[in-house]
Amino acid sequence: MDIPKIIQDLRDELNQHNHNYYVLDKPTISDFEFDQKLKQLQELENQHPELFDENSPTQRVGGTITKNFQTLVHDYRMYSLDNSYSTEDLTDWETRIQKVLGNVPLQYTCELKYDGASISITYENGKLKRAVTRGDGFQGDDVTNNIKTIKSIPLKLKGSYPERFDIRGEIILPFEGFEKMNQELIEIGETPYSNPRNTASGSLKLQDSSEVAKRPLECLLYFIVGNNLNIKTQFEGLEAARNWGFKVPKEARLANSLEEVFEYINYWDEHRHKLPYETDGVVIKVNSFQHQDELGYTAKSPRWAMAYKFKAEQVSTKLNSISYQVGRTGSITPVANLEPVQLAGTIVKRASLHNADQIEKLDIRIGDTVFVEKGGEIIPKIIAVDLSKRNPDAQRTQYISHCPECHSELVRTEGEANHYCPNFYGCPPQIIGRIQHFISRKAMDIEGLGGETVALLFNNGLVNDFADLYELTVEQILPLERMAQKSAENLINGVQKSKEVPFERVLYAIGIRYVGETVAKKLAKHYKTIDALQNASLMDLILVDEIGEKIAQSVIEFFENEENVHIIERLKQFGVQLELIEKHNPNATDKLVGKTFVVSGVFEKFSRDDLKKAIEDNGGKVGSSISAKTDFVVAGDNMGPAKLEKANQLKVPIITEDDFLVMIS
Ligand code: AMP
Ligand code: ZN
Repeated sequence: MDIPKIIQDLRDELNQHNHNYYVLDKPTISDFEFDQKLKQLQELENQHPELFDENSPTQRVGGTITKNFQTLVHDYRMYSLDNSYSTEDLTDWETRIQKVLGNVPLQYTCELKYDGASISITYENGKLKRAVTRGDGFQGDDVTNNIKTIKSIPLKLKGSYPERFDIRGEIILPFEGFEKMNQELIEIGETPYSNPRNTASGSLKLQDSSEVAKRPLECLLYFIVGNNLNIKTQFEGLEAARNWGFKVPKEARLANSLEEVFEYINYWDEHRHKLPYETDGVVIKVNSFQHQDELGYTAKSPRWAMAYKFKAEQVSTKLNSISYQVGRTGSITPVANLEPVQLAGTIVKRASLHNADQIEKLDIRIGDTVFVEKGGEIIPKIIAVDLSKRNPDAQRTQYISHCPECHSELVRTEGEANHYCPNFYGCPPQIIGRIQHFISRKAMDIEGLGGETVALLFNNGLVNDFADLYELTVEQILPLERMAQKSAENLINGVQKSKEVPFERVLYAIGIRYVGETVAKKLAKHYKTIDALQNASLMDLILVDEIGEKIAQSVIEFFENEENVHIIERLKQFGVQLELIEKHNPNATDKLVGKTFVVSGVFEKFSRDDLKKAIEDNGGKVGSSISAKTDFVVAGDNMGPAKLEKANQLKVPIITEDDFLVMIS
């Protein structure tokens, strides 16, 4: 078997599938098939560490931690762009250019201006070498590891390409992915991100590249620099980049005159809201590289390019009232109720006012005429008050002091922007919100029960917390509005069936603040039972992989509350899974309980992952490095010399895979 060839073929195939999916939006295999192939490649690479390639598609999942990003100097400076705001500005620009060029016929490339974070990526012999942020234009941060996790960026190029070049583009977060990320944050009671641009640019500097890998980032390319490129125009450059495998938006157009540039601008000013990502303008570039060379640069920007900024769409309307929403965690959000008005293709009736500080800053009063804008945020924003239209009798807005739902006095923790209703157990939207979270799809996924029914059950006094769900009977719920025998039975069955939901999802469902799906999995795996989690100290929790102080503190607070403990106790009695049930494995034994193993080298009978799994299946633990706590080192071929020395030094027995097989047989 020609292993190097099999591995290379798999890599090429997976690269092509990534390209089909992330660049062309035309996948040709299912996600499942893709994952299978990736797994197969991963296993082969594990068995053949000598064939490691930093640009293999398996490296996309990330996992490197960067504490300090290294500063790197750009081979070619990254300039800014001059801005223009009107057709006159652009006409003036053309006049200036033509003075230099001598009134030659000119072509322009028109592109959309993507709103994200700019990046410069270097390719050498078709392979991604490094990726650097813009920084001050002369030097930026080395974010190569993070960039490699973005799947629309090719790690290896197709076709024929220059030996070495830099390609520039914008890292963006399309609206859909952004909203999904925010939805997940809201579900765990975290504050959502404010706009896609800042979130995209913040992502580049995350220390853990596997976190970056989880974000639905994209990279849109717009410029190539280098020597001997063999490209003559900007437009050709875009096409070349597309052929090499980059994502280059198809909206770019060649214009033969400023008139055509204006047409492009007008078209996109109107249609930009239909794009899947944010644009704040158009970039117009002199097409010919020869002309570009003649024009050169000012101290800050190329003379051959110009950004045209769209006006943010703004309308004015009347503020009818302010209402206050109470979230599942008790957090209060003020919402402006507006006289309905058309804006950026939708009818706007409401706008978020964020918090008390924002209201104070705007000094917004009921009856005011306000300017509303739709920028990066999906939810429109109130920019300012039209003071010229203010009624002289308008009263200053008093922020509420009591919960609009349960009338408890609100609290505001120092350093936090939002007010809270502290009546965790008596405030209806908090109670209903928690139960709705409990039954949601990623949590207990209770079939036959939806969010509105939860409110109905609560309002009829049938449930007050999620444990109450398990005591409901068909007779109790039949009298409810629109509840037929069949749907009542379905609901009760759904609730009963949820007792099979595994511990990790139950842990997510009970809604400990900051404990999202992933954290719940980590905690469940580590502690295995709710009792162990409940008894964990703050220190203990912080020591768990990836659990920070904020989460740890929140877990402690949750269990300090007697009401919570009581609810958990009742869930336990009803038979909800509050312990991890290890999946039944016919090969599992407890022969290795209490023993810690470190695995090193290459094996014949196992892949490294299989060996690790075999250790765990038999009750043992797998350590990552040799220490005084290591009981055995399982060594294959090519064990690292440092490990060997360490094992000898600590007198840790070194065993072969055959020894290991005997141990578990
Ligand atoms: P500004 O940050 O307003 O000076 O605008 C310059 C930035 O626009 C560049 O640094 C790029 O990051 C970004 N940009 C977005 N789309 C394009 C594009 N199509 N061509 C060139 N630059 C772009
Ligand atoms: Zn309340």
